[in-house]
This record gives sequence, structure tokens and C-alpha cells, in this order.
Amino acid sequence: MHRITAHILLVVLLLTTSPIFALPPDTTPVPGGIAIIKLPADIDPASARYRDRKVLITNKDSENTAVIGLSLGTKPGRHHLDAKTVQGKPLTIAFSVNAKDYEEQRITIKDKRKVNPEKRDMERIIREKKSINTALEHWSDQDNVVVTFRRPVDGETSSPFGLRRFFNDQPRKPHSGLDIAAPEGTPIMAPAPGTIINTGDYFFNGNTVFIDHGQGLVTMYCHMNTIDVAPGARVETGDVIGKIGMTGRVTGPHLHWGVSLNDARVDPMLFLPARESSKP
Ligand SMILES: [Zn+2]
Repeated sequence: MHRITAHILLVVLLLTTSPIFALPPDTTPVPGGIAIIKLPADIDPASARYRDRKVLITNKDSENTAVIGLSLGTKPGRHHLDAKTVQGKPLTIAFSVNAKDYEEQRITIKDKRKVNPEKRDMERIIREKKSINTALEHWSDQDNVVVTFRRPVDGETSSPFGLRRFFNDQPRKPHSGLDIAAPEGTPIMAPAPGTIINTGDYFFNGNTVFIDHGQGLVTMYCHMNTIDVAPGARVETGDVIGKIGMTGRVTGPHLHWGVSLNDARVDPMLFLPARESSKP
């Protein structure tokens, strides 16, 4: 009996002490990926900018590392991070972005209005786009941002990030998130600590929640059946924020999970530990 208790304790300890907190993901300098750049010791980390935007900085053993989101529209080639030394001297750190080919995907949507919206839908779509962009580009100062995520839903990846999409044979924007299929009502969990910055019911995205994790790292959850959190609420890793649904433009119940970093939509898979991202 005691031995079993000890075993359970050990398992719990192992689970709670997994060293995933401040470790940045691996560098994947491609469009839709993340560039990881170690900052020289004399750089003021708060001064770091990529395309005039502040970037996320992690700190481990007094070493600062910039974690830079690269949008799908990023041109392969030389890019640079602008910064200042602690004495205020400007400095640029160059890095290369490599090309990446994403596959094509063709989807048939029965509700044609969701592919070719009517005039009266357009006003709503434009208004919603502003609100969505405001949430995704949100910046909040916060130390020790958790950049390793837990998978938000127990389910299979049904559509990866970056696919070049055609809806009813018409070209549309590339897939800016990762889709996880699961039955309606399956709980959706926060992948890391954060604050709910917005929720809403959108024309394309359906019921949606935005979580601010700090320093320009924002995650987005779409097509939800129910939303179980309100703006301003603090969430911890694993807290339920809502349930899987099929609201908005969908072909079946799934979560569209988006990750925005310095206002670039990046591949959510890059934030999952290898064990979780290897799931199909
Ligand atoms: Zn999606």
C-alpha cells in the first residue's frame, strides 16, 4: 500500500517538475516559423525590435534569447533584429530566413455564403477583422513567458499549419493555424498560463477565445461550441476555456488553434514538446 502511494507520488512529482518552463522552442527560420537568437550580453533586451515590433525575450541563466515570429509572407533571405547596447549604441543582428513549401489543400464548403459572403456580411467581416487583429497583435509586458505549450485538445491533427487553401476551388489565405479534430463537446484547455483578452462570435471563426501569454505571444481558439471563460480571466495550463464545436466556416467539429508572435501567425506545432507534436 505504502509502496503504491510512493509510486503515485513519484509520478506526480515527475509530472509537475518537467523542466519545460522558460525553454524556447527550436529555431525554425522559415515563413510561418520562429527564429531563435541569443542576444550578446551587452544588449538591452527591451530594445530588441523586428520590423519595428517588440519581440519576446526569454531569460535563462542570465542569458537573453529573442524568440521571433516570422509570418507566412516573410521573404526568404537576410533579415535583422534591431537592438541597442546597454550604453544605448544601436546594433543589428542579422539572421537568415529559409524558404519553405507548404502543401495545397482543397476544401468544399456547403454554405456558399461562408465562401462568397453577401454584401450585408461584409460590414460584419471587416469589423470583426479589426477586432481579431487587435487581439492578435496585443502586447503585454510580462516576465518568464511560458513558450512551451501543452496540446489544447486531445485529438488528432486534421489540418496542419500553412496549407495553401482553396475553398470551393477558389484560392484563399493560407491556413494560419492548426486544426485538431475531436467530437463536439470535447474540452479545450489553455496550453500555457495567460489572460483571456477577448472572446466573440465571428462570421468565419465562430465562437472564439484569445489568450494573451505575454510579450506578444497570443493564442486563438475558433469554432467552439461553448465559451467557458470571460475577458479578464486568468487561466493556468490545462484550465478548460470552452468546448469543441462547429461554429463559423467548418466542415466538421474541430478546433482551429492559432498562435501569434510579434503579430506573425506561426505554426503552433513549434511550441509543443517533441512528444506531443509527433502525434498525427
Ligand atoms: Zn483551421
